[in-house]
Amino acid sequence: MTVAPALPDTATQDAGAPAPYETAAADDGRVPDAGWAERVRALARQRDAVILAHNYQLPAVQDVADHVGDSLALSRIAATASQSTIVFCGVHFMAETAKILSPDRTVLIPDARAGCSLADSLTAEQLRAWKAEHPGAVVVSYVNTTAAVKAETDICCTSSNAVEVVASMPADRTVLFGPDQFLGAHVRRVLRRDNVLVWGGECHVHAGINGDQLAATAAAHPDAELYVHPECGCATSALYLAGAGAVPADRVRILSTGDMVQAASRTRSRQVLVATEVGMIHQLRRAAPGVDFLPVNDRASCRYMKMITPRALERSLVELRDEVTVDPDTAARARRAVQRMIEVGTPGGAE
Ligand code: SF4
Repeated sequence: MTVAPALPDTATQDAGAPAPYETAAADDGRVPDAGWAERVRALARQRDAVILAHNYQLPAVQDVADHVGDSLALSRIAATASQSTIVFCGVHFMAETAKILSPDRTVLIPDARAGCSLADSLTAEQLRAWKAEHPGAVVVSYVNTTAAVKAETDICCTSSNAVEVVASMPADRTVLFGPDQFLGAHVRRVLRRDNVLVWGGECHVHAGINGDQLAATAAAHPDAELYVHPECGCATSALYLAGAGAVPADRVRILSTGDMVQAASRTRSRQVLVATEVGMIHQLRRAAPGVDFLPVNDRASCRYMKMITPRALERSLVELRDEVTVDPDTAARARRAVQRMIEVGTPGGAE
């Protein structure tokens, strides 16, 4: 397994926020005033904008959005939206993916500083150098990557179809898999392929959901189901632990965020433990108000996601900022990698 350069501190969200992104202060526009939602909806109409919110956004942002979901589902909605402007409330690589799939629309992110430690753990320059070390290898990248990395990629994958995507490559061909080391380790284990070389990246938020914590939480709530999201950087570590038997497999359900919402609305369990970013709890409680949803790690909060404050969203619509651009050549190459992913198998959702 290839090991990448040192990663940011992975212990907790608070300790792990890497530079260079700034952090919104706790009271910096996060609490909307009484007229905020109405103003935002009116502005969206005036701007011919559709508001998309990722599942990990602050509850107020989720509640005002036209659509809430995972990044790939939102990008697909963006590609077919009738509006000329897309306001993507998520992190930067997600807005880039929306731009790649909707090149003719204006794509805004309310705060361009909202990055992603997993996406940042593999740069295009690092990937080019890695490719140069392994001429002839095929590059498979998780969708949590920048447009520049996708442009250097042969085929993208989600964690739903990562095994399928790698299995579609000739068995004797070296595969460079990045950036998530947990997902890569899972692929290697399932396919028993030693020629899958894995970059050592991870999500700094969800690396904090460790095996001991997962097992201890499950043991403390013996009747609870455990929902593990397979696509997020957070969840790929949990996926690895579940696959390795660190938690009882019969109570573990590996689910995309969309499937989590559906499962929540049908569950007969009174309590569900959720191994993913804490913002997901809001959607689950909306789907099943009578069920007790508990985060496996209540500190697993992505500060980048939370940089999209209600104030930032309103400012984005007033000032039409921050626009997300991807140069046409990069976008075309990145689009090919994303489209190949869709052709190989069902990609499911993304983070
Ligand atoms: S929670 Fe998601 S968006 Fe935030 S750092 Fe982790 S992988 Fe990136």
